[in-house]
Amino acid sequence: MKTCLECHDPFQGRSDKKFCSDACRNNFNNKQKSDVSHQMRQINAILKKNHKVLSLLFSAVDAQTGENNKPSKDRLFELGFNFNYFTNIYTNKKGMTYYYCYEYGYRPLENNYYYLVKRREENKE
Ligand SMILES: [Zn+2]
Repeated sequence: MKTCLECHDPFQGRSDKKFCSDACRNNFNNKQKSDVSHQMRQINAILKKNHKVLSLLFSAVDAQTGENNKPSKDRLFELGFNFNYFTNIYTNKKGMTYYYCYEYGYRPLENNYYYLVKRREENKE
């Protein structure tokens, strides 16, 4: 006897059978799919939020002097930034590592401050 993965009822069948019925197999698979898309939605929402925070802070860069806005960790947290999520990492020739959320990125500085950058096609850093 085997146990159905969905309803946990015992059933008889081939050794590779996991479900007692088509209905149980479909229910199980649908739940798996919605779990995955739920997780994807959550992560997408975090990335979207991070992107918004970075673009907001980046737009505060002084256009006249070109001086970079260097927000503190506290400021980023305050705006709801989540440091655990980013889209990619880039390390330049000097060994400086940038964490990107789409086109906006940051590099950790001393004393919990961050240097913000925006990636351009032609900008190889
Ligand atoms: Zn079942």
